[in-house]
Amino acid sequence: MCGIIGYIGKQKVVPILLEGLKQLEYRGYDSAGLSVINNGKITTIKAVGKVAELQNKIGSRDFLGNIGIAHTRWATHGKPSDKNSHPHGDCEGNIFLVHNGIIENYQELKKILQKKKHKFISETDSEILAHLIEEFNKKLDFKKSVLEALKLVRGTYGLAIINKKEPEKIIIARNGSPLILGIGKDEFIVASDASAIVRHTDKIIYLDDGEIAEITSGGFEISNIKNKIVSKEISKLDWTIEESKKGGFDHFMLKEIFEQPEVIQNGLRGRIEHFLSEDNLPILGGLRPIEKKLRKIKKIIIVACGTSYYSGLVGEYMLEEYAGIPTEVEYASEFRYRKPILNDTTAIIAISQSGETADTLAAIREAKNKGALTLGIVNVVGSTIARETDAGTHTLTGPEIGVAATKSFPTQLLVLALWTMMLGRQREMSNVMSKRISEELKNIPHLIEGILKKSKEIKKIAKKYISAKDFLYVGRKYNFPIALEGALKIKEISYVHAEGYPTGEMKHGPIALIDSNFPSIFICPKDSVYEKNISGMQEIKARGGKIIAIATEGDKEILKLADDVIYIPKTLEMLTPFISVIPLQLFAYYFGVAKGYDVDKPRNLAKSVTVE
Ligand code: GLU
Repeated sequence: MCGIIGYIGKQKVVPILLEGLKQLEYRGYDSAGLSVINNGKITTIKAVGKVAELQNKIGSRDFLGNIGIAHTRWATHGKPSDKNSHPHGDCEGNIFLVHNGIIENYQELKKILQKKKHKFISETDSEILAHLIEEFNKKLDFKKSVLEALKLVRGTYGLAIINKKEPEKIIIARNGSPLILGIGKDEFIVASDASAIVRHTDKIIYLDDGEIAEITSGGFEISNIKNKIVSKEISKLDWTIEESKKGGFDHFMLKEIFEQPEVIQNGLRGRIEHFLSEDNLPILGGLRPIEKKLRKIKKIIIVACGTSYYSGLVGEYMLEEYAGIPTEVEYASEFRYRKPILNDTTAIIAISQSGETADTLAAIREAKNKGALTLGIVNVVGSTIARETDAGTHTLTGPEIGVAATKSFPTQLLVLALWTMMLGRQREMSNVMSKRISEELKNIPHLIEGILKKSKEIKKIAKKYISAKDFLYVGRKYNFPIALEGALKIKEISYVHAEGYPTGEMKHGPIALIDSNFPSIFICPKDSVYEKNISGMQEIKARGGKIIAIATEGDKEILKLADDVIYIPKTLEMLTPFISVIPLQLFAYYFGVAKGYDVDKPRNLAKSVTVE
């Protein structure tokens, strides 16, 4: 999920690798490392923390080599530490590799390799690749060994590998994690991100999934996993460093909104994509040790702040409806000062992207003191909340740079949906129901892609309302929290006043605000509360209010009431928040941009709120 850079050419490799790593720093990472090959010897240096730490460790040592690989790590398996940092090596110190992504079946493969006496140093999934290649390399050449190893691996990877036994080459491979080959003059640069290549060359080849390239100083050969040579087009890179960091998008926020199908796919991989049994139970390694305790849970309290609080609210609906467990959601900042009634049948779920949110952390500590089971839904591996909770599941969102949360939201929802399936199946949920949810979940990335294609249309609508100074966002049931999230998004990045309300509550107060200058955004898909939403819409219409509706494709009735409609596809009611939030994120984004604000860095806000 983080960065790779590799170099083969005539120049001294270490400065080039360090410079490349610095270009990748913007993505956020927890550790860095490099391996350099020189005179048949490989030197590997790693450091937790910034690239500057790595640079300090290298100090004034002068490396003569001109082949090397380097990495910035965003931990997914094993906390950030020197030994978990990449590059990872095999037993003999011949093979070193850097890996982006996740090897899903690493535990199975590790067991097999341990039986063959392989010694593992790290807790990562990545290290097994080095040993697996080593195993094949006993009989086969380097490239064939990589190909054979990759046939056994399930998961995502961007890989760059060197081997002392064939010291004049780098092998790279890609599956579900970006990898680019830059073609310079007498040199080749490989990277996960164009920003690390721009300085060297504008001639690049994008590797596709299932492709592997063997690169020497004299040239390269790209083949597929069956070792058939493929011919690739050379593209011209016409982005500046800044543009390439944003992947061609104008802002990180927009890039991250568009990454949502991919991050949800990452969160699904290995969890429901390959069921181990007919049980239709999601595979959640982090909850395995406490499975028995979870059976005894009678009450859940979710503690969170901001966008995570709203995903918690969706979780409350899911857990109560499908797992049958009474659930409350609390602002972490309130929970810590209340006198919560907890006991050993209560589970506290902390949701936090950074895993460092001060209020949420304090709430978890308070709950732990009172004997409750504490669980975490966190993005950053090794973060304080991840460490201090009894168990949990990572959201696998990858680094989120935009300060206003976007892609972290659906990945939190995904974990909550998976937990609902697991807790539900421990109780009354049928096998058929969990299968239905999982089938629909698999379809969500595709549904989101469809909505993203409508971004131009959404931009037009946002511009149409640009003079509005206030918005009312309303929805019911699963989409009430989405109304809150939509209102929060536009407040955060456009600095306009917005209220999020349950549709039914609107007539108890906020409707007094409505006039022709105060538009309302209705999230009203065709679900069990559709008619109720329509009544609310009529009330607004009767008072001259403008209406933007997020409605289900094919709903023609809505056109009679709404001034503008953004259609979303149909899915299970409990999963509509995954898709109904997308137009609201885009609406807020285009609104903020049209107003001329820096949407990636809204005023007064910090990405990770580590103070009370
Ligand atoms: N899964 C690997 C690890 O945790 C790679 C992480 C990354 O992509 O940076 O080490």
